[in-house]
Amino acid sequence: MARRVELTDEEWRARLTPEQYAVLREQATERPFTGTYTDTEDPGVYRCAGCGTELFRSDAKFHSGSGWPSFVEPTSLDAVETRTDASHGMVRTEVVCAACGGHLGHVFDDGPGPAGQRFCINSCALRLEPAGDG
Ligand code: FE
Repeated sequence: MARRVELTDEEWRARLTPEQYAVLREQATERPFTGTYTDTEDPGVYRCAGCGTELFRSDAKFHSGSGWPSFVEPTSLDAVETRTDASHGMVRTEVVCAACGGHLGHVFDDGPGPAGQRFCINSCALRLEPAGDG
């Protein structure tokens, strides 16, 4: 599928930290309770750490206790794509950035909002732009 942001592997490696590369480009998962944004309540916009596209807003974030930043919904439905992930002996729904294809995390059906979804997202796949900054 065509992406708005297409970089070579070399370009991704230059742009991302090794941890970000492992998550965004190789579907790794950061260890729970280790990420920068797990408990963050600061208002702002969470952008893709790979391409800068707005993905989530702080008002959709909640404390799930899972150890990863959790959101009830993305900013817009076309900001993310989902696909079935049957790795690690589980069937989960993977969440990827629609613009660059970067792996963000997974979505589960046990969320608290009206849609009942929990977007469980790796901190290092996100970059918080605090409200009021540019
Ligand atoms: Fe992206």
